[in-house]
Amino acid sequence: MKNYYLGTLALFAISCQETAKVEVVVEEGPTVVIHEEQLAEEPTEPEATEFYDVKVPVVGPATSDKLPSDAIVLFGGENLDSWLSAVDSTAAKWHVNEDGSMTVNDKTGDIQTKQNFGDIQLHIEWRSPAEVQGSNQSRANSGVFLQGLYEVQVLDNNDNPTYTNGQVASVYKQHVPLAKASVASGEWNAYDIIYHAPEFNEEGGKIKSATLTVLHNGVLVQDHVEIKGSTEYIGWPNNNAHGKAPLVLQDHGDNSRVSYRNIWVREL
Ligand code: MG
Repeated sequence: MKNYYLGTLALFAISCQETAKVEVVVEEGPTVVIHEEQLAEEPTEPEATEFYDVKVPVVGPATSDKLPSDAIVLFGGENLDSWLSAVDSTAAKWHVNEDGSMTVNDKTGDIQTKQNFGDIQLHIEWRSPAEVQGSNQSRANSGVFLQGLYEVQVLDNNDNPTYTNGQVASVYKQHVPLAKASVASGEWNAYDIIYHAPEFNEEGGKIKSATLTVLHNGVLVQDHVEIKGSTEYIGWPNNNAHGKAPLVLQDHGDNSRVSYRNIWVREL
């Protein structure tokens, strides 16, 4: 639902000598869109371009021991209650570990959130095993699939060359990361992701691409990149229309042994 407010800035009227209404559209949540009429003349007073009508939601900040106050915890270390098997929608079969992490259970399939999401801020931490096995795409390969379709690659790339557009923190086969910011194998990485979902018209045509921004251990690695469609292993991206959809974590099926912890989202 949208709430509509009409705010009148008297000083606009003074400076423009006409009624200058500013329509403020407040979407649910923190997104705020402001539509301003074209002003006949540039304002000459500072107050003419200042407004008080929009109230910004107050969100408790993330600190070293606290999540943002409106965060939805998807994995807090105790269980997989927020997840399902992406194969058959039964209980997720990955391993929950005593240290508050979970680990891919090889060949049991991807897991997906029970909840569907659109635009989100996502925090997720992952670790590849200290004892390395395999090479190229078969060394600790997993992935974070936004809306189940668009993969941010998780891979142990340390001394492990692979194709550049499939390396760690790539948008798989679509966007090379701006940097490789991995910690040593066996240590915890963090991804902080800002994702905006694609939009489709009633006929199913894409009218706006999804976008992704990714910080890998605090380093900007994807800068508001445009998603071309599903991140395919073989072939071109697909752009089938969809609405809100689950977050998916990948079981690459080759004993990746990747672990995850501290997964939370904020809906945008
Ligand atoms: Mg992967």
